[in-house]
Amino acid sequence: MADFSKPSMAELLHLRGNQLDKGEPIALPLVQSSMYHLPGLAENFPFYGRATNPTWDALEHALAHLERADCVAFPSGMAAISASLFATLKAGHKLLIPSDGYYVTRVLSSRFLSNLGVEVVERPSNAFEDGGFEGFDVVFVETPSNPGLDVVDLSSIAKQVRAAGGVSICDNTTLTPLGQRPLDLGIDIVVSSDTKSMGGHSDALMGHVASRNGDLLQAMEDWRKISGSIPGPQEAWLLHRGLESLDVRFERMCNSAELIAPRLAEHKAVQSIRFPGLQVDPSHNLAKSQQLRFGFLICFTLESEEKAERFINDCPYLRPATSFGGIHSSAERRARWGDDVDPAFVRLSIGCEPAEELWEALKTSLDQL
Ligand SMILES: *Cc1c(COP(=O)(O)O)cnc(C)c1O
Repeated sequence: MADFSKPSMAELLHLRGNQLDKGEPIALPLVQSSMYHLPGLAENFPFYGRATNPTWDALEHALAHLERADCVAFPSGMAAISASLFATLKAGHKLLIPSDGYYVTRVLSSRFLSNLGVEVVERPSNAFEDGGFEGFDVVFVETPSNPGLDVVDLSSIAKQVRAAGGVSICDNTTLTPLGQRPLDLGIDIVVSSDTKSMGGHSDALMGHVASRNGDLLQAMEDWRKISGSIPGPQEAWLLHRGLESLDVRFERMCNSAELIAPRLAEHKAVQSIRFPGLQVDPSHNLAKSQQLRFGFLICFTLESEEKAERFINDCPYLRPATSFGGIHSSAERRARWGDDVDPAFVRLSIGCEPAEELWEALKTSLDQL
């Protein structure tokens, strides 16, 4: 696998503790306040809840440790993606996005950005470098893409976009900073839906942006304050708590996926399968060279829509639900949302159940089709 050092997870768990004064709580306090006590000059003090909040600060401290870059927290992945695009684009600019990534990014671009004079171009992830990047002001990638799990070459794209004078943005939702480090590969901005495995408990929507470019980061923070796209303190607190167990959860989920994917590939009910960890997968070599882990998403196609529904709904250890990355394994047919996939295409998100128990349940459900 790619040889990037992970940030210290021991340090993550003690980031806050090592700064405490005697008598302060070990767990992060949840600060719900729109106003701050502020007599006299306001400079350099927290002044209003739309601009600052101590619970956000603690969360962003932990995120910055994970990304080794300054971060700004947002109330959802789409809020983070919107910030990255609205802070970098202006009328007359040209934006390149994947035609097969998370569909709401495409809707945002076609429905709103193009109305403001941005020219939006789409390309499939599996031919993303074809045609080069000359003339593009912003290039947005997602890898492995959701739901097709195609992988693009981040350092090659980052280099070409920079040479052409553009800004590169990578949606790193499917792998998290523990599975892939786009900033270390030269990407300018990372965006993430922390609603998924970063939070990990399916109880909060959140997102963040990360960048080592101070001007870009400041522009996105300004966007948050001015547009009002701010996280609730409770959600920020929940994500901070989730991050403390990310390492353990992510490792379990990725290990289980690596155990289960080859078994699924051999099951007679499975017609085709995508998982970057399988040696035969078209993404395998690239994934191995730039990722730290293969992830916990496995996508496969069964014989029919009806069988796919039955597989998902009859398995006691699968939540039939959209979204992914929670401790509970979940699955869904992506065609029900209009993704350009086979009606029997299933996106399986491996959770934290013990792998052999989960496999037994998956196998039983497949055997009964
Ligand atoms: C879910 C998801 C998003 C959107 O995140 P929300 O938190 O739902 O706004 C963006 N990109 C990818 C790859 C996703 O899976």
